[in-house]
Amino acid sequence: MSARTVGAVAETAPGERRVALSPDGAARLLAADHQVIIEAGAGDAAWFTESDYTDAGARLLSRREVYEQADIIVCVHPPAAADASLLRPGQVLIGLLAPLLDLDLARSLAQAKVTAISLDGLPRTLSAAQSMDVLSSQANVAGYKAALVAADTYGGYLPMFMTAAGTTRPAQVLVIGAGVAGLQAISTARRLGAVVTGYDVRDAARADVASTGANFLDVGAPVSAAGDGGYARALSREEHDAQQAALTDAIARFDIVITTAQVPGRPAPVLVSAAALAAMRPGSVVVDLAASRFGGNVDGALPETTTITDNGVTVIGAGNLPAGVPKAASTAYARNIVAMLAHLVRDGALVLDQDDPITAGVLVTHDGDIVHPAVRALIEAPTSEGPDA
Ligand code: NAD
Repeated sequence: MSARTVGAVAETAPGERRVALSPDGAARLLAADHQVIIEAGAGDAAWFTESDYTDAGARLLSRREVYEQADIIVCVHPPAAADASLLRPGQVLIGLLAPLLDLDLARSLAQAKVTAISLDGLPRTLSAAQSMDVLSSQANVAGYKAALVAADTYGGYLPMFMTAAGTTRPAQVLVIGAGVAGLQAISTARRLGAVVTGYDVRDAARADVASTGANFLDVGAPVSAAGDGGYARALSREEHDAQQAALTDAIARFDIVITTAQVPGRPAPVLVSAAALAAMRPGSVVVDLAASRFGGNVDGALPETTTITDNGVTVIGAGNLPAGVPKAASTAYARNIVAMLAHLVRDGALVLDQDDPITAGVLVTHDGDIVHPAVRALIEAPTSEGPDA
């Protein structure tokens, strides 16, 4: 069986600076006997030059040629409509396709007989899947960048400084949600010298926070809300209200609050209320990583939007933070893609074993059918068009 040709084109989503294949990823695919083709200029925004790719052994082509010649197209975001029409039957598309949020995309990829593989469906707690886990690799970048954005906006120092002009107190940072992004935000803020406190509803997160050297926030209203697969479960209305009230009392003493709390399949819980914002000191900074069109962790926060409250608190609804660290984020993303291809392609042939939990988690469409059970269930549900419908 001949080698596969893997192709990547420039991302077109507004503000996106990542590319699905880095030169390092291209070299790894070539070492695994694949051919690699890249749209000329696809890595420019991530600071990868064309010679970085050609030195690695990749060929540079036009966008259309990549679509024509690749057996496997790798991407970060799903292709825009004009590109989607270039996909052909039997071609494989691998990326963050979010099919549960975009049923029309799943339908159109099935209709085009494209084999669609969405990395957001990966069963992340399987140890064999960890090297392919783009949600973790990109959350790690987002947590890092969130701490930098907060530090950049804050008007004081993060570390304690003892200078001839006097001693400054270190900034007090609270990170709410101690998953992948939260733990990286905690570690980064600690490296910058802040005094950091973490908080989460899962009991297991206490040990994770402790392992970074940060404090754990005891809000006096303990709930243990571990759900399936290492994620949190949604809290009941009473639990949520008690938690929000306890957090509202605690938040006022922090200079910087970074929120990352998510519950799978649900809008993010609002944990920083308007009352909590009103009680914070002028000059405090809140960064909401969970801000999306479905809401966020901070009352009123919107993605890609920064506001300053009447009492002088800067609230940053984060957007696509990994795009702000494009070189590192793309390098990690491409490594995940390489690991996924090593799993799916054996001796040059695509092996789609539905009994394999990794394949079953990521395979969305194949041979004209929508094969992912959760996507099928949403499409077949009589009244539902999406998880929030
Ligand atoms: P996530 O993005 O879904 O959520 C971020 C954090 O928010 C989680 O820690 C969650 O507990 C927390 N949260 C949810 N509701 C909250 C609330 N009301 N108040 C406070 N915190 C709340 O999660 P994630 O970062 O993708 O990962 C979640 C867990 O899965 C972590 O334990 C992570 O280490 C684990 N994980 C394990 C693996 C693995 O085993 N390989 C891989 C990825 C993630």
